[in-house]
Amino acid sequence: MPKDLSQTNPQSDPARPATIIPRPDHNVSRQQISPNALKVLYRLNNAGFQAYLVGGGVRDLLLGREPKDFDVATDARPEEIHDLFRNSRLIGRRFRLVHVRYGREIIEVSTFRALHGEDDAHPERHTDDSGRILRDNVFGSLAEDAFRRDFTVNALYYNIADFSVIDHVDGVRDLRDGLLRLIGDPDLRFREDPVRMLRAVRFAAKLGFRIEPRTAKFIPELSDLLRDIPPARLFEEVLKLFLGGYAAQTFEELLRYDLFRQLFPFTEEALAHEENAFPLTFVARALENTDKRIAEDRPVTPFFLFAVLLWEPVRRRAEVLESQGMSASDAMRIAADEVCARQLEFVALPRRFSTPMREVWQLQPRFENRSGKRALRLLGHPRFRAAYDFLVLRAETGEADPDLAAHWTKLQEVDADEQHTMLSQPDGTKAKRRRRGGRRRKPGGDGGE
Ligand code: ATP
Ligand code: MG
Repeated sequence: MPKDLSQTNPQSDPARPATIIPRPDHNVSRQQISPNALKVLYRLNNAGFQAYLVGGGVRDLLLGREPKDFDVATDARPEEIHDLFRNSRLIGRRFRLVHVRYGREIIEVSTFRALHGEDDAHPERHTDDSGRILRDNVFGSLAEDAFRRDFTVNALYYNIADFSVIDHVDGVRDLRDGLLRLIGDPDLRFREDPVRMLRAVRFAAKLGFRIEPRTAKFIPELSDLLRDIPPARLFEEVLKLFLGGYAAQTFEELLRYDLFRQLFPFTEEALAHEENAFPLTFVARALENTDKRIAEDRPVTPFFLFAVLLWEPVRRRAEVLESQGMSASDAMRIAADEVCARQLEFVALPRRFSTPMREVWQLQPRFENRSGKRALRLLGHPRFRAAYDFLVLRAETGEADPDLAAHWTKLQEVDADEQHTMLSQPDGTKAKRRRRGGRRRKPGGDGGE
């Protein structure tokens, strides 16, 4: 332990004694911890290992919020953890850890790790030229484990042995002050793992915290580093950013910190070039809806989210293709092909989501046929509901004809007889079809897929 503590940076000295907050002085109670997480903690502890609840679970409980999931840290090695739990699996390349599964709940158990600099003595740890960590399997002590975590508020440990909270990084103070502070040197820590920039924004939005200025300063400076992150990992992060219940706020912060561009460059470009505000409103409104649905425990799907996020570049491109004489349907399909091909280099999108996303787009021009067999077929299309919701959003934000949306709303509300009458009326839509004086030459077309 260093003699002169005043010489050290409080956020980067593992030798500094931790603050221990005994049970009577904090509000984390076992009643709020999932029974499965408790089971894991007790079994590790009974087998002679240290066992702590750590990360978002402790953070959220200290804030009086309900945690999304529970993570456990221990001095047991991955194989030892695996041996203790029949229902467990060893996973991960970058970090080797153990998932203990109870039905749908997974408790993530990780072994204490250390943060070493470039060090030939630790071939288990590798960084690339920009300082990014590629592998990180050097085991360490609890103190070392605390310092390799991202934010101070994420590095608090709840000790199952005596129910105290252990704080090595002044996380409790930052929690009280509503500050998101990267542990150690922000420049270095963001370079180690640029995804921490996205995490900063996500937690700030979710918790209503401020990003501490020294941490915040580096984000726009280093945002380019996200280009090196594999698209599959960014897909996972995008879901957490936009399907976590705080998407609207997160979107604003992503724009503010120049991060949105790194994920959806074509959308950012389309939004930036637009004279009218409606495309931005469209995304913002859709995200507010998403947040509302999550708050009401209604389902949200990644394909709808991506349909929203990529719509503006697809729509613009389709408009150009249509102005060159292509049918609405072909223009939409080709625009989708083009935008998706380029976008996938940034953020992955598994086919099970990209297929329905594209269907939602492809059905948009088909709404222009208000009656007749085509309209009837559209009503029965398996993706009708999502496509209709999408149309309503477009209409609400001024990009599609509100009368058209109202027509399709009514068509669903009326009884079978009236629906029949509406559908058998001649399609009088073509004259008043486009509100925004679209550049298209040919009317709607069938839009068949
Ligand atoms: P939530 O689960 O509510 O989204 P969380 O803080 O629990 O938030 P997880 O992704 O579950 O986030 O990670 C658990 C913990 O692991 C974090 O709290 C943090 O201590 C550590 N951690 C996760 N990702 C990183 C990272 N990229 N760099 C450093 N530490 C990380
Ligand atoms: Mg978590």
